[in-house]
Amino acid sequence: MPSRYAVRIGKIDVLVVSDGVLPLPTKMLGHNVEPAVRATWLNNMFLPPDAFDWSLNAVLVRSGGQTILIDAGLGLDPNLNLPRAGQLVRRLQAAGIDLASVTDVVLTHMHMDHVGGLLVDGVKERLRPDLKIHVAAAEVKFWEAPDFTHVNMPQGFPDALRTVAKRFAQEYRGQLRLFDEEHKVAPGVIVQRTGGHTPGHSVVRLASGGDRLTFAGDAVFTVGFEHPDWHNGFEHDPEEAARVRVRLLGDLAATGEQLIATHLPFPSVGRVAVDGNAFRWVPVFWDY
Ligand SMILES: [Zn+2]
Repeated sequence: MPSRYAVRIGKIDVLVVSDGVLPLPTKMLGHNVEPAVRATWLNNMFLPPDAFDWSLNAVLVRSGGQTILIDAGLGLDPNLNLPRAGQLVRRLQAAGIDLASVTDVVLTHMHMDHVGGLLVDGVKERLRPDLKIHVAAAEVKFWEAPDFTHVNMPQGFPDALRTVAKRFAQEYRGQLRLFDEEHKVAPGVIVQRTGGHTPGHSVVRLASGGDRLTFAGDAVFTVGFEHPDWHNGFEHDPEEAARVRVRLLGDLAATGEQLIATHLPFPSVGRVAVDGNAFRWVPVFWDY
């Protein structure tokens, strides 16, 4: 089973590593649309009607002598029946990547499927004491008193998300490096706050030697190209998240750069095209 895929952006090495998959109810795709409309889309996509597996991708970037992990996967299953995720640490090891070689972590946001890997027993001890964790200040602030009034999540998720984010902020407080809107992490590696999904949600832009790639975190999901206005159940401000998505996809279509996103099917490397009033996902051909 393939679990990693390498891409080169100029002088920057990019490795997509799968943390596994999350089986989630299809309602999460678009809770602001009629069930029949959702059902038609799923049928057209040859997907099952009730639940399907969402990919969970993290990325390792090497640039200018730094090794940067972007997001950290689920870690342990918080009793939500997600046994096939949480593979990241094992898969980094299988790829010959020592946790002690990671100089920086960038977090797109603090949902448990993006920070949980750092809370697995024994992981913190294997990370460097001078590890820097870059996250938007607005994200850390949000989780002090998170607002769940506009989400539409399966039972048990809000509590688990609150608990994991809180534990993460406590355990790694000394290592957090907060930024407001934009921060240069390494040569050609810039993290930019978008908001929407969560107030501090951020994307990572890579640029080197004329090549560009964006890691979009949870700004876009599989359905988001065809239906960018469908509200994902995990979005804390779904209307702003839709605006962020449309702006980002329009930008990526204009530049023709590559896109990787957390929950697009592994390895999730592709490009964006404009398609009428919406967009089209154009996967790259596997290079093997
Ligand atoms: Zn996510």
